Amino acid sequence: AKAEIDQRICYYEHDMDEAARQRRAMAKDLWTAVEKDGFHLAYQVQKSVTTGRITGYEVLLRWDRPGHGPVPPSEFIPLAEECGAISAIGAWVLNNACQEAARWPEPHRIAVNVSGLQLAQLELVDLVKSVLEQTGLAPARLELEVTETAIISDRQRALAVLGAIKALGVSIAIDDFGTGYSSLDTLRSFPFDKIKLDRSFMTEVERDEQAKAIVRAILALGKSLSVPVLAEGVETLEQLDVLRIEGCTEAQGFYLGRPGRIVWPELKQIA
Ligand code: C2E
Ligand code: CA
Ligand code: CA
Ligand code: CA
Repeated sequence: AKAEIDQRICYYEHDMDEAARQRRAMAKDLWTAVEKDGFHLAYQVQKSVTTGRITGYEVLLRWDRPGHGPVPPSEFIPLAEECGAISAIGAWVLNNACQEAARWPEPHRIAVNVSGLQLAQLELVDLVKSVLEQTGLAPARLELEVTETAIISDRQRALAVLGAIKALGVSIAIDDFGTGYSSLDTLRSFPFDKIKLDRSFMTEVERDEQAKAIVRAILALGKSLSVPVLAEGVETLEQLDVLRIEGCTEAQGFYLGRPGRIVWPELKQIA
């Protein structure tokens, strides 16, 4: 039995080495992607629930890893945070998103995701400022999406950074709302411009009364704080109908539009 256990530990260690080796290889490719413009951006439309008009686009990072194909952000963003590449990647996203949006024929707002590690750095304020200056994008057209977990690591610093960015005229949305562990406290400590209701709440909302009750409560909370609520992950017309009835302001999800590249008719004709 002892030998058997030793053998199992051996296999386990071998697997660990292999996993570590793969992560190192991926981290190396990530750094190359940063240096060589190996990323691109997808945009997902956000719409008014009542009028159906476009209210903005969320910017989503895409990485087609050479020799491997597309890697989901849920895989490479945590790795980028670990290996220290997230600041460079975050700067790339902000810069390219603002540059692209500044050339759009319609002045739609863009919502850019910001990692918690970026929020902990005062340099983020200077980055946002210089990107806006260099691209000429109006500050009102930029929104940053931050998660509660991002704010929790260094609360005072994060709130100071957000305050300074908001002072530039950029709006701040709280992302994945309802999934963190101190949602209400976070909401009280900063004047967010938007609440993004996590998409887990949309599942079953049209069938399950309890799910609906929670959505209703968060919408009421937004209303009493005068903060608009955007519902994420809307996949069906039935879900959208519930949101309309319950008085939700904005929505985003596969039913309204999948993330993709934006091809404007005006730009297409030129190309
Ligand atoms: P997120 O910020 O919550 O972004 C929304 C995610 O939900 C996107 O996944 C989007 O494709 C997906 N989604 C949108 N509508 C629906 C729907 O109706 N149903 C379902 N099932 N999913 C939907 P994606 O693009 O894979 O991104 C995953 C996460 O990676 C994002 O979650 C965000 O946390 C992170 N991420 C993406 N781009 C960036 C970035 O540029 N910077 C940072 N720091 N994080 C990013
Ligand atoms: Ca987001
Ligand atoms: Ca989200
Ligand atoms: Ca998320």
